[in-house]
Amino acid sequence: MNPGNLYIVATPIGNLSDITLRAIEILKSVDIVAAEDTRHSRKLFNAHNINTSLWAVHEHNEDVKAEQLIVKLHEGLSVALISDAGTPLISDPGYRVVTKAREAGVNVYTIPGPCAAVAALSVSGLPTDRFLFIGFLAPKSTARQKQLQDLLDEQATVVLYESPRRITGLLSDIQAVLGADKLVSVAKELTKTFERVLSGTVTSVLLQLESDLDLQRGEFVVMVAGVPRKKANDDTVDATTMAWVTMAQEHLPLKKACALVSEMTGVKKNLLYKTALTNKE
Ligand code: SAM
Repeated sequence: MNPGNLYIVATPIGNLSDITLRAIEILKSVDIVAAEDTRHSRKLFNAHNINTSLWAVHEHNEDVKAEQLIVKLHEGLSVALISDAGTPLISDPGYRVVTKAREAGVNVYTIPGPCAAVAALSVSGLPTDRFLFIGFLAPKSTARQKQLQDLLDEQATVVLYESPRRITGLLSDIQAVLGADKLVSVAKELTKTFERVLSGTVTSVLLQLESDLDLQRGEFVVMVAGVPRKKANDDTVDATTMAWVTMAQEHLPLKKACALVSEMTGVKKNLLYKTALTNKE
């Protein structure tokens, strides 16, 4: 008998309507849906009339459950794997299930959809040509600061996940290690009622969060601008530097924004001004 298929299905990161037609079809048609938290997933199932039987597969039982799922797949049953939100395996369980399934010769298919990191990058205003996804840093400040030190020369936009409990702690550590003027974009509660994107220097974003406790509630993606790349040609300005000018312009007139970014980066302010005008055209 041929083994059944394993589907890795992305689900909403907040708004229950953010699910693809194919995801709903697959979740309705498979024999088993392996879910991180079955109670949580039942809300999604109720919203879309899905009645498939749910198995709890989370980080504490993934090894055992993966073996049991492989047995079911070899019996010819088909399985979908979902997590509480977004794309499974992205800071979520599922890695061991997929690895074991592949080793066992099971076909693994992706049913793509929401992912908080990608959704946040798309509205951040920071360069997206290169990004480094890290997910959660260490919960304790000392370990977290050490991890941040590794990012001092990072040129790519860095993408971090953070919970409400540690959001101000993480931003304070970014300020301490990467500098008070480091540009960040903080995306909160994407696709939900209190969705916000706060952008600017880490100091200004931290001030906004500290002055409004409501802003500290919810789920966060923190994106940190990379270090500008040095160009052989002095007449060009890289995308990260120009993103800084755009962000500074949210609070300052263009000339002052260019002067500020010039001070931060050493790039001539006239060159920044000229490039900003050209980009506008
Ligand atoms: N697998 C998920 C994905 O594809 O994005 C991520 C799961 S991870 C356990 C949960 C973290 O993702 C949250 O702590 C938060 O950092 C981020 N996140 C999830 N949903 C979010 C949302 N609606 N807005 C902002 N961040 C979100």
